[in-house]
Amino acid sequence: MSQTLDISHLNSSQRRAVEHYCGPLLVVAGAGSGKTRALTYRIANLVLNHRVDPENILAVTFTNKAAREMKERIEKLFADQKARSDFGKPLDALSPIEQTRLRSYVYKNITKELWIGTFHALCARILRFDIEKYQDGSGRKWTRNFSIFDESDAQSLVKEIVTQKLNLDDKKFDPKSVRYAISNAKNKSLSPQDLEKDQSNFRGRVIANVYSMYQDTLSANNALDFDDLILTPVQLLKQNEQVRAYWHKRFRHVLVDEYQDTNRTQYDLISLLVTNGENSNTFNEWEYRSVFVVGDADQSIYSFRAADFTILMGFQDDFGDRLHDDDTRTMVKLEENYRSTRNILEVANQLIDNNTERIDKVLKPTRGEGEPIFLYRADDETSEAEFVTNQIRQLEAKHPELHHGKFAILYRTNAQSRAMEDSLVKLQIPYKVVGGLRFYDRKEIKDVLGYLRAIANPFDTISLLRVINTPRRGIGKTTIDSLVKASQELSIPLWEILSDETSVKSLAGRSAKGVLQFAQIIQKWRQELDACSASEIAQGVLEDSGYVADLRNQGTDEATDRLENVQELYNAVLQFEENNDDPSLLGFLASASLASDLDNLGEEDQKVSLMTLHSSKGLEFPVVFLIGLEQGLFPNYRSMEDPAALEEERRLCYVGITRAQERLFISYARERRLYGTREPASPSLFLAELPRELLNSNVAAAIPNKWTKPISEIRRNKSESRNMPNSHANDWSVGDRLIHKAYGEGEVVRIFGAGNKICLAVKFPGLGQKIIDPKMTPIRRE
Ligand code: ATP
Ligand code: MG
Repeated sequence: MSQTLDISHLNSSQRRAVEHYCGPLLVVAGAGSGKTRALTYRIANLVLNHRVDPENILAVTFTNKAAREMKERIEKLFADQKARSDFGKPLDALSPIEQTRLRSYVYKNITKELWIGTFHALCARILRFDIEKYQDGSGRKWTRNFSIFDESDAQSLVKEIVTQKLNLDDKKFDPKSVRYAISNAKNKSLSPQDLEKDQSNFRGRVIANVYSMYQDTLSANNALDFDDLILTPVQLLKQNEQVRAYWHKRFRHVLVDEYQDTNRTQYDLISLLVTNGENSNTFNEWEYRSVFVVGDADQSIYSFRAADFTILMGFQDDFGDRLHDDDTRTMVKLEENYRSTRNILEVANQLIDNNTERIDKVLKPTRGEGEPIFLYRADDETSEAEFVTNQIRQLEAKHPELHHGKFAILYRTNAQSRAMEDSLVKLQIPYKVVGGLRFYDRKEIKDVLGYLRAIANPFDTISLLRVINTPRRGIGKTTIDSLVKASQELSIPLWEILSDETSVKSLAGRSAKGVLQFAQIIQKWRQELDACSASEIAQGVLEDSGYVADLRNQGTDEATDRLENVQELYNAVLQFEENNDDPSLLGFLASASLASDLDNLGEEDQKVSLMTLHSSKGLEFPVVFLIGLEQGLFPNYRSMEDPAALEEERRLCYVGITRAQERLFISYARERRLYGTREPASPSLFLAELPRELLNSNVAAAIPNKWTKPISEIRRNKSESRNMPNSHANDWSVGDRLIHKAYGEGEVVRIFGAGNKICLAVKFPGLGQKIIDPKMTPIRRE
């Protein structure tokens, strides 16, 4: 294509970034200042103006969605350029057929060849080429059709090694924390041998041993975990000069978005790709290559995955002085925000100013003042959801350009989507859950509803089959097949076979015990249908079936998330009972089916977006609702004792606020149902940090005064907490009173689990209920 890229509408700093051709460049700037836009334009500029072959470009984005969007944008840019040069008109002015033809031309000739994706996706691609040339320090090998084990596969593998192969006590060697230690080692590029060398104590050596056996098992399965996906190419590039030379030559231009969330191993990868070992200080080496990174330390929100924003700050030391001494040549700062109204920006700036660990930077508004930020104090989570959906209805009625796709609802934890989804369904507003499943599509919700449906209607064979062996009761597929076959051949419902002891004993063989146990649970609660409320049945069946106990035993992050969702479903049952004259199980199931009805009204981009704050990074929406600003929820209770973690929560809040272009609504509830009971909630300390003069509210009292508990006190608590005796896990009972260092006095209202593995639900006045692991938390009896 023989046209140049029009960049006249970019500001001069952006133009400098876009036109940068060779050598290193760091672009740092606050949210919404056009970093991603500059990166995208730069790729286009490299191809169009510098005639760089698209296959020499590697661009790393944070999510697959971001990668897709970037490719789209680039494709559109190219197609538009070509439209202007071939037809003298912009792309939009061409007929749809011409537009498609141009886009497919651009795809075939340019975007197909560009490598744009997440670290994980790009590394997996590199490994599909070259993994057979790799062997690790102990001679383990993989082939190119390797599988990728996700986090829950990885944790199960560790558990199996700890409990079965090494016969260790999984209370001392909790699989989750062992897996975390292994992951941490991998993120620091340490092999099992490296890790072992560092260990002076027994525990450390055991973990190194588990790590080694874990790698053996992965290799025996021809599998890699998520950390290996990055670590393996790093080691391969270090170990094999030929391979390194190939990829080094291939990717002459490396670009990274969201560089503040890079971890050490990812950094090593970039570094190996761009510097090719030692001889990179010469001009020739840099002449046709570049490393271009963009980021914002204030948006670093992945430290739990070992992301380290000091890597961003060290960019110039790492790459900058290879050619020049002059730092300004290797850095561009963008200072104008193009995304948000002045009010939104001011609120974001003032909030983040409360962080101590940051570099001050300028972020000037380019847009008008806009509307004030609206702070809504809701009575509870239902009224919060109603507020949001009513606002959506009102705004779209008033502003025709605001269709559903222009709204986003952001929250801290996945389970919060439930109340919101129920309300959206009620008003028939189409929505999608970005980066996750809709509440009623989640596996655990379908499982629990499967039990409830089977109880309400045991002729619902689909539900019976869904849960007959969930959690595992030793019922194999062959047994299930023979039961189903019998029911089909005899033309009698499956349930009649399951509930008949003689039939089960003859058909199910060794699995008979499990089948009978299952049938008994269903039978028992069927008999209670008239006598018990929906919530009593739900609670009973969750206990009897072992479903909750099984999730708790798994102990993985995924299982914890599922457990929260199951709790939230239970909340939905309670809420249903409160609001309906007929609080029966059947009534609840009918309402849940309506809620889960896959309406799929409208196009994907015409739906309200629901997502966690973490998934919202890099995105923007005209109208944003930030919900659940309550102490313990956001900031999350785990961060309240740790100043560094609290600062990360604040950055997350900054990310949330800066997604908004035109309107921002923030809400919190005075009461929230957590773990089954209604509890008073108190407003988030972040609310007290927002400028009062820019907030409107439904009640004046909604805007809290400066938070009374200064961070220094929380900090002090943290150091004191080391001296606190941790209680023994198993000597608690309901009604016990205790003192928690961050939350104050509380009362144990429920105990989950048994033996050493218990959690306490503790009620703290003013804070609601918290679930606490007495082994991990600094508490003492009152
Ligand atoms: P984040 O930190 O949230 O990732 P960012 O710095 O990557 O933000 P972009 O998403 O690139 O910012 O840009 C924010 C918005 O501003 C986008 O809608 C973009 O199209 C617009 N924008 C960027 N630069 C300009 C400009 N020079 N003129 C007008 N609009 C711009
Ligand atoms: Mg961006």
